[in-house]
Amino acid sequence: MLEMWERVLSPAQRTEVAEGFGAVDERSARLAAGFLAGVSRVGHACPSQMVSFDTRQRASPDRERACAVWREQAMKAGLPLPLPGARLRHAAAEHVTAAVLPRLTGCDCPGLVDGERCRAHAHQGLYTAAYALNRQGADVLHADTVAKAYRATGGAPWDVIRMALVDAVARHVGIAAGSLPSLIRPSDPLSLTAFSGLVSQSVALSREDVAGDVASPHEDWETTTSRAHLHARSAVGRIGVGG
Ligand SMILES: [Zn+2]
Ligand SMILES: [Zn+2]
Repeated sequence: MLEMWERVLSPAQRTEVAEGFGAVDERSARLAAGFLAGVSRVGHACPSQMVSFDTRQRASPDRERACAVWREQAMKAGLPLPLPGARLRHAAAEHVTAAVLPRLTGCDCPGLVDGERCRAHAHQGLYTAAYALNRQGADVLHADTVAKAYRATGGAPWDVIRMALVDAVARHVGIAAGSLPSLIRPSDPLSLTAFSGLVSQSVALSREDVAGDVASPHEDWETTTSRAHLHARSAVGRIGVGG
């Protein structure tokens, strides 16, 4: 996204995104855009997403082996994966993202759980951004949907993983994860439509990168398990959570 901002976006597009964000200046908009694009798939870091490989692909011994290898590596890296066969709450990754992101990006209001919305005026933009992040067009995410996704987040052990991911992205961009409210104050989800489109584009581009790096016979599921997993593994490896 940071690269796209510099090289692909026209000045008019940058201005549009910055205005939609309610950013104080274009520099803040650029940092927020890079940060939000980077964390837009953090909802993949939850139990049901992490154990579900590409379901469109048919089961095969190769695929079974590949999944088993991934699982073993992930457990070694400290991912708190559920036991095979455990009952899991499912939610779409983008709903989990919307549920967890505000609390990872600056809402520290007490007494709330993920999926609940605080009332602090300064934090409303975090909710607007998190809800709009994975939307297409004028489709607005409903608060009930986000509240339900709370049950699929995996709770505290996964909060640690997601926080590590968000921190890693923030470091990469050069901001503190909790500083988002000081950069942008979006008030209208629809004003973020242009930005959401850019995020889908940059996610598509980064997936191509991943596919290019990994010359494995299991490229299909490797591709679809997404960047979030790769980041999760390395982030977790670095901080050595759990064990
Ligand atoms: Zn995933
Ligand atoms: Zn708050």
